[in-house]
Amino acid sequence: MTAIAAAQRLIRPHGGYLVNRLGDRPVGVDGLERLTLTSREVSDLEMIATGALSPLEGFMGRDDYERVVDEMRLASDLPWALPVCLAVDAAPQGDRVALADGSGRLLAVLEVDDVYAYDKDREAERCFRTTDAEHPGVGRLYAQQPLYAAGRVTVFDRVPPAFPELAMDPAETRGTFAERGWKRVVGFQTRNPIHRAHEYLTKGALETVDGLLIHPLVGETKSDDVPAATRVECYRILVENYYPADRVVVSAFPAAMRYAGPREAIWHAICRKNYGCSHFIVGRDHAGVGSYYGTYDAQLIFDEFEAHELDIEPMFFEHSFFCRVCGSMASAKTCPHSGEDHVHLSGTKVRELLASSELPPVEFSRPEVAQVLIEAYRD
Ligand SMILES: [Zn+2]
Repeated sequence: MTAIAAAQRLIRPHGGYLVNRLGDRPVGVDGLERLTLTSREVSDLEMIATGALSPLEGFMGRDDYERVVDEMRLASDLPWALPVCLAVDAAPQGDRVALADGSGRLLAVLEVDDVYAYDKDREAERCFRTTDAEHPGVGRLYAQQPLYAAGRVTVFDRVPPAFPELAMDPAETRGTFAERGWKRVVGFQTRNPIHRAHEYLTKGALETVDGLLIHPLVGETKSDDVPAATRVECYRILVENYYPADRVVVSAFPAAMRYAGPREAIWHAICRKNYGCSHFIVGRDHAGVGSYYGTYDAQLIFDEFEAHELDIEPMFFEHSFFCRVCGSMASAKTCPHSGEDHVHLSGTKVRELLASSELPPVEFSRPEVAQVLIEAYRD
């Protein structure tokens, strides 16, 4: 099969084509008015440029924004779950502005075609289902500047990736999948170390498709999440020891967490479609935080779209555990035994064990992974 034929077997990007907004540094960019982006906006910019947010070619204009907030659709009618906007304190003077990261590094040019006011309470209520500023995504929204600047972007310099060995743009994951002859690929989003429960569901999903993309989020997260560097080491050692190398790709997902629960599950699925995934794992309380969302909200929200509209197929999973009677990993769907037969450890208990350099039971965590976490706790 030719490379083109192999690539054509993969799912098409959202909207039909992969956006590419990478370009040359324009003459005179240093003289332009400059906007400084937050780390979340830098992550979004990067993802727009590489097509991870196809069909978006820039920060959202008012028509897209309003429909996304109200109806989870772009103005074109295409499903889209969360705003991708650039907050500013005042309308820029010119029709082109330079975009910089927090260190002052110039990254991109924005062709300004709209600047508009937005209602923070409404965005919070619709997108996060709460206006509680304690919610990390809502808190960030409330702290934002009061206007959105919209327009197409051209990125001419990229922030060096935190994990260069894991950096793959959508065109690259698609190329890799095509090279391996994969057609059906399941994506797994995670922002935690992978223990036996998630190993079980990724492998369960992999049994039915050609390949697995383990796609940990490495953009900004809450400060109490396990640091990305530790997680990346956990993924590396787990995959090396327990997954067949020719069936798995591990790559970093550069998005920042929004903690928008159900809407973010849709958004994550659409992004992974752009990376070439035909299937996407959605567990309980996907992208949730605290108790803002119901256990299955992130799965139920997929019913608000016709299957063909999203194209990527969600794969729903239950919480899983090792059952001593079954003698295997299982879930409430597949095991009839009582909780006493299950190996269950609370997050607090696991942290206690690791902090005192004790390995959790092998039915809970692979020892190689636990060892990485123990060493991280020691530092
Ligand atoms: Zn059982």
